[in-house]
Amino acid sequence: MQTMRAAVITEKYHLETREIPTPEVSAGEVRIRIAVTGVCGTDLHLYGGHFGAVFPLVPGHEIAGVVDQVGAGVRYLKEGDRVALDPVISCGACHHCRRGMRHHCENYQALGVTRAGGFAEYVIAPESNVYPVGNLDLEVAAFAEPLGCIAWGIKRLQPEPASKALLFGTGPIGLLLMQALLVSGISEITVVEPNAERRALAMQLGAKLALEPGKDLITQLFDLEPYGFDVVTEATGAPAVISQMLQYATPGGKILYYGVAPDDAKVEISPYEVFRRDLTILGSFSLLGTTPIALEWLSSRRVQVKPLITHRLPIEQLKLALEYKDHPGMNGSQKVLIVP
Ligand SMILES: [Zn+2]
Ligand SMILES: [Zn+2]
Repeated sequence: MQTMRAAVITEKYHLETREIPTPEVSAGEVRIRIAVTGVCGTDLHLYGGHFGAVFPLVPGHEIAGVVDQVGAGVRYLKEGDRVALDPVISCGACHHCRRGMRHHCENYQALGVTRAGGFAEYVIAPESNVYPVGNLDLEVAAFAEPLGCIAWGIKRLQPEPASKALLFGTGPIGLLLMQALLVSGISEITVVEPNAERRALAMQLGAKLALEPGKDLITQLFDLEPYGFDVVTEATGAPAVISQMLQYATPGGKILYYGVAPDDAKVEISPYEVFRRDLTILGSFSLLGTTPIALEWLSSRRVQVKPLITHRLPIEQLKLALEYKDHPGMNGSQKVLIVP
């Protein structure tokens, strides 16, 4: 039997690199030899036993690689195709699937969440989850999943042409969100970010202004936009940030909560304010058919991802990325990629 290296979470906060059997395709599936898998906040949550993690689990859902084996009945892919993956597998038959909301499937499966994912040498996926990327650099293609999620957020938001946005948080997701907004009708974006390096990167990637949070932030923002911003969004998941957002929206403005807040967090908002200023508050979960949008942004270079990559690590060092707060060498990390 052939074996491969894989990072396996055996139980909460236990990660091992193991030799496990190399998976074989069934009908309708393809096997991908993995080139790159991005590390994401979701992996940290799974490592901590959240998000319905079932162990043992090979995590990793931001996957790019090369098709290595195709199952019977596969029509649109062949060996040697360079590909990116949409990890969400839906049943097609439940209430939500039938209403076109496949990412809320009652029988939801996802690569790297409920079944084996990308921190390994190979992964198996249904053909419909696998997208050819042509000659796109596979390091870039690994961003198809996080950027696909952002594209879903943008579709939810439907920004008006030539509108102005305010974004809190410019970690890797914030910087993707910022760039996606700028190619989707937003003409100017102001960001708020405590970390100086991240502010500099936001400026380099197209922010109009990058401000530090602090006591004079309100004054600075209202000096800038006395009537408020058309779009106010965040990629922090921090309740302290989320609770401040409404005040910065102009009448008729839209507020998009993009970051993942703790599942028990609560924030206080004024329903009167939402009423009086015609505000819209939106959420955005996962992705839904938006991988092609992400791939278009990536291959046209309208969204830059290379500047976000700070670390490339072998599978054996995934633990460093999952416990980055404890490792000084990982300070200042933006996007970490695992390269098997
Ligand atoms: Zn992710
Ligand atoms: Zn379903």
